[in-house]
Amino acid sequence: MNIFEEASKRLEKALQHIEVSDDVFEKLRHPKASLEVSIPVRMDNGELRTFGGFRVIYDDTRGPAKGGIRYHPSASLDEVKALAFWMTFKCAAANIPFGGAKGGVVVDPKKLSKAELERLSRGYIDAIADFIGPDRDIPAPDVYTNAMIMGWMADQYNIIKRAKVPAVITGKPLELGGSLGREEATGRGAYYIIREMIKNEGKSPSDVKIAVQGFGNAGYNVADLLYNDGFKIVAISDSQGGIYSEDGLVPKDIKRFKNETKKLEAVYCEESVCRIQEHENITNTDLLELDVDVLIPAALENQITSTNASRIKAKTIVEVANGPVTNEADEILKEKGIPVVPDIIANSGGVIVSYFEWVQNRNGYYWTLDKVNAMLEKMITSEYKKIVDIASSKKINLRTAAYVHALSRIAGAIEAKGTRDFFKK
Ligand code: NAD
Repeated sequence: MNIFEEASKRLEKALQHIEVSDDVFEKLRHPKASLEVSIPVRMDNGELRTFGGFRVIYDDTRGPAKGGIRYHPSASLDEVKALAFWMTFKCAAANIPFGGAKGGVVVDPKKLSKAELERLSRGYIDAIADFIGPDRDIPAPDVYTNAMIMGWMADQYNIIKRAKVPAVITGKPLELGGSLGREEATGRGAYYIIREMIKNEGKSPSDVKIAVQGFGNAGYNVADLLYNDGFKIVAISDSQGGIYSEDGLVPKDIKRFKNETKKLEAVYCEESVCRIQEHENITNTDLLELDVDVLIPAALENQITSTNASRIKAKTIVEVANGPVTNEADEILKEKGIPVVPDIIANSGGVIVSYFEWVQNRNGYYWTLDKVNAMLEKMITSEYKKIVDIASSKKINLRTAAYVHALSRIAGAIEAKGTRDFFKK
């Protein structure tokens, strides 16, 4: 089954627990629009190379579509469709007035020079400019794209439109209309949820051992915020492999060392000196199977599958990446009694603060960091609690509960335009 079909299964499951018109399933079975483009880029050596790119608007019944842009060598139309589908449900679960979209470019950005990366990013916007817009579809960063790339993209859109349109893209640098707090928002949202979860279990942060797979924007920020609140981060990994220390790791120091050396090492730093601490080197497979309280996959999709789900020992999984647990793995984890806080709520902090950025851009009035964080905390924890309540009242897992919650809002919007019962003669 391809990744998009896998994603759609979650809708089918949710439909078993909520009464909605058949029109809703019919509408949500297909993406609204899919665009496939070729992006010719002049390379530094004079060669002209063409990169493939995609943008998919999945559903925009509840508002303009919203979703990140991923740069990855294995990006594909099916993957982008699945990610756009998840965005539709994420925006509804988080109660922000957006539909879902996603973009992707087939490229390994680590193999491009900075100037090539800029030309590619501007070329992608040239190719999709008529498809996006602040009232139509609003991109943002995702895997291997960042604030600077969003800045180039927004600038290119301004050049094409001969106007300043900051609300067309979120996750921009602050100086170009970005929002305070957007950079760490995905990690911060997940941190608020984990804090709420631990509070409900009557535990204190120092009792909680955490492993984080992926040390990019989402993985680093959630690890750092948890560490600063007293949680014990025992394992971290990136695409090269992982590190484990029973005594706990210091995310900020590890990031500083990685920025300087490109290596993921267990270090602690005092002023300008960083020392290697005692640790074990582990693989990404080992990390996923550690006996921890909270496992946070924060890298890519399909990490916990039918192959390794039975070996998972974590007490809870919090999906900071999109789609890290497959449907088959979900069933195995359910049998093992391991709850999974699903991506569409766990990582919705990013899109929530992207929404704040869009609001600020449109108003031309910018919020303080305290206001952004307070609003984020209020929104994400209140939606998370509603999902927990649905799960317990309907006796379903958190994922299905999150889909039921999102679906009730999407269905409401679809049905408000009239259903087959309304129109039938
Ligand atoms: P990023 O590019 O900043 O970081 C990705 C990280 O994953 C890097 O540390 C990389 O080394 C690591 N990685 C790649 N392949 C790996 C592998 N096989 N095993 C372990 N680590 C691996 O990306 P990001 O923005 O942090 O996104 C990570 C995940 O979070 C994605 O699933 C993304 O869709 C999701 N997400 C991100 C945001 C956001 O605002 N950035 C919002 C919502 C969801």
